[in-house]
Amino acid sequence: TVTEFDRVTDSVCPFCGVGCQTKVYTKDNKIVLVDGRDGPANENRLCVKGRFGYDYAMSKERLTKPLIRREDAPKRGDADMRFMDPLDIFREATWEEAMERAAGGLVSIRDTHGGGALAGFGSAKGSNEEAYLFQKFIRQGFGTNNVDHCTRLCHASSVAALLEGVGSGAVSAPFMDALQSDCVIVIGARPATNHPVAATYLKQAAKRGTKLIVMDPRGQDLMRHASHPLRFKAGTDVALLNAMLHVIIEEKLYDAQYIQANVDGFEALKAKVADFPPESMAEVCGIEAETIRDVARTYATAERSIIFWGMGVSQHTHGTDNSRCLIALALITGHVGRPGTGLHPLRGQNNVQGASDAGLIPMMYPDYRPVETPDIRAEMEDFWGRPLDPKKGLTVVEIIDAIHEGEIRGMYIMGENPAMSDPDQIHARAALAKLEHLVVQDIFLTETAWHADVVLPASAHAEKLGTYSNTNRQVQIGRPALDMPGEARQDWELIVELANRSGLDWSYDGVADVYEEMRQVMPSLDYIPWERLEASESVTYPSKPDGEEQWVVFDDRFPTADGRGRIVPADLRAPDEVPDDEFPMILTTGRLLEHWHTGAMTRRAEVLDAIEPEGIAAMNPREIARQGLKEGSTVSVETRRGTIEAVLRADREVADGMIFVPFCFNESPANRLTNPMLDPYGKIPEFKFCAARISAA
Ligand code: SF4
Repeated sequence: TVTEFDRVTDSVCPFCGVGCQTKVYTKDNKIVLVDGRDGPANENRLCVKGRFGYDYAMSKERLTKPLIRREDAPKRGDADMRFMDPLDIFREATWEEAMERAAGGLVSIRDTHGGGALAGFGSAKGSNEEAYLFQKFIRQGFGTNNVDHCTRLCHASSVAALLEGVGSGAVSAPFMDALQSDCVIVIGARPATNHPVAATYLKQAAKRGTKLIVMDPRGQDLMRHASHPLRFKAGTDVALLNAMLHVIIEEKLYDAQYIQANVDGFEALKAKVADFPPESMAEVCGIEAETIRDVARTYATAERSIIFWGMGVSQHTHGTDNSRCLIALALITGHVGRPGTGLHPLRGQNNVQGASDAGLIPMMYPDYRPVETPDIRAEMEDFWGRPLDPKKGLTVVEIIDAIHEGEIRGMYIMGENPAMSDPDQIHARAALAKLEHLVVQDIFLTETAWHADVVLPASAHAEKLGTYSNTNRQVQIGRPALDMPGEARQDWELIVELANRSGLDWSYDGVADVYEEMRQVMPSLDYIPWERLEASESVTYPSKPDGEEQWVVFDDRFPTADGRGRIVPADLRAPDEVPDDEFPMILTTGRLLEHWHTGAMTRRAEVLDAIEPEGIAAMNPREIARQGLKEGSTVSVETRRGTIEAVLRADREVADGMIFVPFCFNESPANRLTNPMLDPYGKIPEFKFCAARISAA
């Protein structure tokens, strides 16, 4: 409890896609407490990050003045910047000088080499309005679709499969629907760690008797609540899921009537999965044939079944295939379109759903309208009043490669940290160092900002007004609880000013004005005007004219051209880089409960960093003993791309033969090790599997 505060602000949590509503208590322009509100996704609950992760916004490390790279600064990428004084690299500048330099560099590249020589990374942590303005600026101001954000690194493969299969990349039902399900599958997701408040609904469902099937190569907390905990071999998702599909078809547990009325591709699936009997796949995926049969029967015969998945499914070179199998399971059993059923890829960042919806992706305008469809492009050219790029743009990892090839020369990065989050980090940082002009807009001097020519100090979540769309498709308002420090400015205003200095003529009265412009090109937001959001605090899209919110979609038809779902059968493919004599272990990466993604925020949150203060590599105690290593000692983890040092942690949840490294520690950066090879459809890198070795440091 708090005895002293002078203001309470209703807002939403800045961390994960659950979208918990918060009450932020402040005194003297400092947050003193964050508590839960009765939002539809959290019912007053918060996890440790939401409750204790707020003080990053008040960190002494906040950027408070614009910075310009000094002429005599060390070459970018040369030094370990963690131990350098920022003022050895940058000098403080006025806003006028910084904005002139920032826009001037981008415009000069555009005018000399064309807009295709520029690219932008926006942020899934920003608001919908910021995402919309950012992609509009890159498309309208530079005439290129080279604009992307970290969705490419999390659920891009899931979205590719969902758009292909059911015509929409968003979830079909909210996670609270687990309470109405008879069977819940959680695969490749660790909700108790990464979506903790959503996990409470799954645990409650299990307690009420819902069958809970948890599939993960690593053990996890949720398995204690599961009727079927399945620790399958890493990288064999398609073997396991196709074996389940085989059982459902062989034993005629599918819904023939539903398939006939709603689904194409069943015969092709039948032919494909004939080759995947559980008895053959058991050895491949490490789950006994009878268990696979039991799980398949449990899912198919339940009255209402729902599937949740996460990055364990998506972050593979076969990530789209993994999701295709999950979609096939739902479509052939008719477990979609009714309460308690459906497909739910659990979104990572607080606004990764909204940023994607707002068009912060290289192949789609807002609301997933393809940039390569001439009629749609003509409509957007008319709306924005400029010719637009007829080709889809490059994705995150492709942009990094294009810098090395000299194709991309300048970038504008807002609130993203590719120097930590991109795979094959040495390669990614070398690309940032190679840019002729880099503008970074952020709240901290991140590992990415160290490479910048101009750094623009921006607004933290707790300082701004904006809308955020959570994993359930619920649009909610975040409100400012703090004033910005020093000369920091609102992100949306900075984008507008850069756009105007680049030759555009933008004028907005405020955030609500931006939101209302978005709605003109986003039918998903029909019937959800700003006033309704302000009054309701949370509105689920799509909404009907009478105001009814559609929490469950696909009840009558799929949003595809012909209204039918489409099954695309998947083949079994090995991960890109499998262990061998030289690198005999599997490296997998992910998050910790206490730290958020690259750690830029939570490592500056005192309580959270006190709980998890140092870079770790985790292995099973059996494996530690087998390799003659010592728990708590410093080890070197090495792959074909680099080496890191970390403290060795014994963790029974990690499978034999595997090393787990979280990607939040800049002193032990996991992505120095990871494989940049992409899934061919979603263009997502294989963060979850590569070959590694470990030794005492
Ligand atoms: Fe924030 Fe997610 Fe935790 Fe909720 S579950 S408090 S949204 S981090």
